[in-house]
Amino acid sequence: MISLKGIRKSFGRHEVLKGIELHVEKGEVVAILGPSGSGKTTLLRCINYLEKPGEGEIRIGDQTLDARRAGKKDIHALRRRSAMVFQQYNLFSHKTALENVMEGLVVVKKMSKDEARKRGIALLEKVGLGAKLDAYPSRLSGGQQQRVGIARALALEPEVILFDEPTSALDPELVGEVLAVIRRIAKEGITMIIVTHEMGFAQDVANRVVFMDEGVIVEEGPPAQLFGNPKEERTKQFLKRLT
Ligand code: ATP
Repeated sequence: MISLKGIRKSFGRHEVLKGIELHVEKGEVVAILGPSGSGKTTLLRCINYLEKPGEGEIRIGDQTLDARRAGKKDIHALRRRSAMVFQQYNLFSHKTALENVMEGLVVVKKMSKDEARKRGIALLEKVGLGAKLDAYPSRLSGGQQQRVGIARALALEPEVILFDEPTSALDPELVGEVLAVIRRIAKEGITMIIVTHEMGFAQDVANRVVFMDEGVIVEEGPPAQLFGNPKEERTKQFLKRLT
């Protein structure tokens, strides 16, 4: 379970997050939508402390962290409970697909190399890359690189996977293969928070959709309600612009 209370974040004088409250149950898939600059990525980065919130409380499982009192140890413990899938994949370019997935297993999970190799192969097979174990990222398509990124996140067995616009850097013809992998793992009951511009995907994969604008959560609800019958004027306007 993830719980965010009163999360605030400013860059200089610009307050980007204005007291976010969000609760995500175990196994839930939550999609975050909103216009560019509304704070979606910043919120995701605050959850694992890639960005330090100015204020607020973050709870993942039984680890709770108060932004104003967080020490290094608490931050480290919180980070281990989540894994991020980045827009730009962020793979190590000098490591093969398999080595990229093994890295967290060996360094973070302290697995032996043999064990990590076995687990890494299984995970790459799971995302359809069993034939690309020894390929370097430069030899992989964007969609394949992102699937390595997803295998790497799964390897850490986090309590939540945070997806930051996982398909927005991809050529349109590669989007489908990545969404298919995310859809598949969502069915396994892994808790996910997904920032996405893919409305159809959000509608289809998410249990709940959260609409953000100007640093606040304007509205949230099941996809059928939020897309079919939004309550707030700002949500209506946003959805109208997309159609
Ligand atoms: P997009 O859909 O375009 O990715 P977003 O909703 O994810 O947008 P954020 O990336 O969270 O929005 O950015 C929210 C605001 O914070 C923007 O105005 C952005 O310019 C600003 N911002 C984000 N990161 C920084 C930073 N490191 N320094 C200064 N300003 C930042």
